[in-house]
Amino acid sequence: TPLENIRNFSIVAHIDHGKSTLADRLIQSTKTVADRDMKEQMLDSMDIERERGITIKAQTVRINYTADDGQDYVLNLIDTPGHVDFAYEVSRSMRAVEGSLLVVDSTQGVEAQTLANVYHAIDADHEIVPVLNKIDLPAADCDRVAEQIEDVIGIDASEAIRVSAKTGIGIKETLEAIVTRLPAPKGSLDAPLKAMLVDSWYDSYLGVIVLVRIMDGQLKKGDRVRMMQNGSVHHVDRIGVFRPAMTEIDVLGPGEIGFLTASIKQVRDTRVGDTITHEKKGTDKALPGFKPAQPVVFCGLFPVDAAEFEDLRDSIEKLALNDASFSFEMETSAALGFGFRCGFLGLLHLEVIRDRIEREYDIDLITTAPSVIYDIHMKDGTVEQLHNPADMPDLTYVDHIEEPRIKATILVPDEYLGDVLKLCQDRRGMQLDLTYAGSRAMVVYDLPLNEVVFDFYDRLKSVTKGYASFDYAMIGYRTDALVKMSILVNDEPVDALSTMVHRDRAETRGRAMVEKLKDLIPRHMFKIPIQAAIGGKVIARETLSAMRKDVTAKCYGGDATRKKKLLEKQKAGKKKMRQFGKVDIPQEAFISALKMD
Ligand code: GDP
Ligand code: MG
Repeated sequence: TPLENIRNFSIVAHIDHGKSTLADRLIQSTKTVADRDMKEQMLDSMDIERERGITIKAQTVRINYTADDGQDYVLNLIDTPGHVDFAYEVSRSMRAVEGSLLVVDSTQGVEAQTLANVYHAIDADHEIVPVLNKIDLPAADCDRVAEQIEDVIGIDASEAIRVSAKTGIGIKETLEAIVTRLPAPKGSLDAPLKAMLVDSWYDSYLGVIVLVRIMDGQLKKGDRVRMMQNGSVHHVDRIGVFRPAMTEIDVLGPGEIGFLTASIKQVRDTRVGDTITHEKKGTDKALPGFKPAQPVVFCGLFPVDAAEFEDLRDSIEKLALNDASFSFEMETSAALGFGFRCGFLGLLHLEVIRDRIEREYDIDLITTAPSVIYDIHMKDGTVEQLHNPADMPDLTYVDHIEEPRIKATILVPDEYLGDVLKLCQDRRGMQLDLTYAGSRAMVVYDLPLNEVVFDFYDRLKSVTKGYASFDYAMIGYRTDALVKMSILVNDEPVDALSTMVHRDRAETRGRAMVEKLKDLIPRHMFKIPIQAAIGGKVIARETLSAMRKDVTAKCYGGDATRKKKLLEKQKAGKKKMRQFGKVDIPQEAFISALKMD
């Protein structure tokens, strides 16, 4: 297809504003999929995520469209779920296309993810066409929302398209706008092959499938290609496009988006953002800006049952094969035994992996507190990266500690603003900005990532009854007065409960933790002291009193089956616990103890 007849675009939106529905209508109205094969949410990324695991981030579809000018166009839509954990992947996909449809629900207006996603589009120099969706609803207020787009985002919304993705109003106009308002891609057919690796995922029949955008040159079946990042060479055995089903074709030219397979075994060998060229007569200039996604949140994963350690290793290795941004190394904990210290892009990523291990591999896990990476500046001038509070070096050698910070953007209806400000303040936030857009406030805070990784989002949702939207970006490291707080149960330190906290918050945090643990740990035959300490100094203490009778005592020794049942129950309960010295600590204690109310 000649360049001038190609348009590549993405759709950016806040969740539920109608991105998937609009994609469906575009696919359906152009007969890309026969009506009888049409099912709702053709491109729904979360579904794909569920089916294929978290590794799939971009979905594409190639649409053929005959425009009002009588010409045939190829429209390539790349869809990405705009979750903050995958910001790097989103920004890469954005660089593979020239324009975006900015979908805003005309009954709701601009939300935090609208902003975060549209900034990716602006960074990628996109032409942006605003689309006001859901105009079939009585609450639609297009003028207000158009004005808000101009005020808050600063792009012209005077020619926003008014659409109902549900009923089909404005779909034709949207297709025409893609053709007339978005630029055609640039690229040279004669230049050496330069293709951007947009995404990749594992398919059990075809091996790794690589989504590419051809910048220059041509890619053909049978070509030998080189991944410029690691120099590996592969024989291309298939190329094709998504309609949205995979369809093989013979050649992909400049400006086009499609896939290749090359008997690649591991997703790890195909890094998002890499440049692919021919083995011979290739380019020596890789596309700029390659930076592999780095894990930012770490936690320990341990089997509840120590005998399942090898199964856990197996499951983690399998998951890592298909997820280049998930890292792991073996860890031994005095309290928890053998396990793994794992790195994730964010909390969603952590949850998905943990759930998959529990569900697909049927292993009960103890997850330790998520932690960020601290830079420990030693007195001798060296810097150590601390991934695990348990490894904190002796303070006498430490000069200062730096922690990662984020810039958080929160949009919230007026009436909840006070609660949001309090929450951010409580989490050591520094306000950067506070503006209004209609009846909603936009608050921008500089917050320690450490204070956000655990339950910030849950708290935000609960104090605003779900009306706030939230997004964040990393902004760098800064020094603060951080200390390691240890938890001692029955005078034994439980390393898996160690956390890094700010000195000023340590006491409150420590008090809250020991109180929680007191409720979470069942009573034993003896008294159990539960303490929080910094260095050797105890800052909070509770005592769990001894149990008076054993559970079966009240059965009067008579009913044998009832007694047996009770003992079985007790045993089943025990399985979910770990022994620390003489004390059983239930699995959920490790997470619950850290939640802050
Ligand atoms: P996404 O999260 O942006 O992909 O949003 P979806 O496409 O899944 O849409 C979210 C909800 O809004 C679904 O229940 C849709 O049926 C509904 N929806 C989407 N577009 C429209 C529209 O134009 N009008 C109305 N009334 N509902 C819509
Ligand atoms: Mg969707």
